[in-house]
Amino acid sequence: MSQAHATKTLRQPLEHRPGVSEWFGTTQTLFNQVAAFYWQVLDAHPTVLELPAKDALSTLERLTHTTISNSSPVMPLSDVAAQVPAYFRRAAIHAALGATRGFQNHLARWKRAKAKAKGKPCRISPPVPPRTWNRSVVFYAGMWKAATSGRITLKLYDGQTWRWVRFRVGGRAAPEGWQAGSPQAVQHGERWWLHVSLSRKFPRPNKVAIQLAADPKPLLCAVDLNINDALAVCTIQRADGTVIASRFLRGGDELHGRRKLLLGRIARNRRLTGVIAEGEQDNVALWAKVRHLDDDTAHRLSRRIVDFAQAAGTAILVFEHLGTFRPERGKYSRRANAKRSYWLRGKMIHFARYKAWNAGILTCRVNPKNTSRHCARCGAEVVRYAVGQPREGYQPGAPLVWCPRCQQTVHADFNASRAIGQRLVVRCNPSPQEKPPTRLATGETPKGAGVRPSHAAAGPGSANRHGTA
Ligand SMILES: [Zn+2]
Repeated sequence: MSQAHATKTLRQPLEHRPGVSEWFGTTQTLFNQVAAFYWQVLDAHPTVLELPAKDALSTLERLTHTTISNSSPVMPLSDVAAQVPAYFRRAAIHAALGATRGFQNHLARWKRAKAKAKGKPCRISPPVPPRTWNRSVVFYAGMWKAATSGRITLKLYDGQTWRWVRFRVGGRAAPEGWQAGSPQAVQHGERWWLHVSLSRKFPRPNKVAIQLAADPKPLLCAVDLNINDALAVCTIQRADGTVIASRFLRGGDELHGRRKLLLGRIARNRRLTGVIAEGEQDNVALWAKVRHLDDDTAHRLSRRIVDFAQAAGTAILVFEHLGTFRPERGKYSRRANAKRSYWLRGKMIHFARYKAWNAGILTCRVNPKNTSRHCARCGAEVVRYAVGQPREGYQPGAPLVWCPRCQQTVHADFNASRAIGQRLVVRCNPSPQEKPPTRLATGETPKGAGVRPSHAAAGPGSANRHGTA
């Protein structure tokens, strides 16, 4: 079976005494000097790029590194920097090789696009060689030691000499089962952090259609994302539509309120200032708060969705495609808030997708048309209403739906979540015989909405078979 690859970055703050951060700075400056030097070497010797990675490294070292057997290299590195440890040099060479390869690929793409455009404006802009180098230092083996857990010793350049410095590492520990790459020292504001790339290999999961055709049929986790209080409604369901577990992830109202407060403050500040300076971000701190609030919510909820799916043993996560955003009328804070609620859903899908992949779960999306308007069980049009209201019509946003055919009342978002899962099953089983028996013949004509009433379901499928909703 072919292998799939998952990667992520572990970010850990480094605790250091004052003064040490300067050594990080001097080390980084040196690293970039060396990398920029190798960029020039590659510029002068472009044939090196055609060699395999290992040969490219040794060729570049022969061109630049002075040893007893190689006493006069063509472009000596010692002209640029005197004290460069071997593994530091190699990390810088790889940074330069990566940058050069990226540049060459971009250049080739641009040339192709330009030739294709035949004088018309071209979509791809030409690549620009780096004017300044500002890369984070990669510590190869030999440049760092991990003595005990929670500590790391790094070799840093203080401007005169190299010294070993020990740090306490904060944040979370590396998760089990992941392979750690070389650490990187990255500056976040005043602090220095350790970024460690983690990777994991796992058997490549089968395509969704193949999984759904397997016997026994797998479970799937369907997620309905909303802009009301129940931000995400997840259901674990079988291919036949039976819901085994459901979870409402709430907090939308609180988020909405907190965001509106911040947006209101921004609006008031703007009113007091009068003009907003062009090309300059206003209310920086408040905007950062709004952004963090949304990012944090999206990260927490996507994590909970994936954990819920994983705990139930599903390997398929289903979302609906997001509809077009309809701007709301009203004050600035109201309009901006509605827009951000809409964006949040996209962010949640984006985050859930990679988190799910890292757990070996596939993510798919289905057509959103009428997932709320039709009964997930029989496909009939539902009545949507609130408690204490008459059961008639369709009131968007109301909490309950009642199906006039099944005579059942369920939560509207639960119904939608179930419909999303079933839509995927229908999509993967295009032949009418294999359609899930959940839909009764409704006599409706297909509307091309993805969910079609099954004409084969009149046989074994009966309304009493699925009493879980
Ligand atoms: Zn129904």
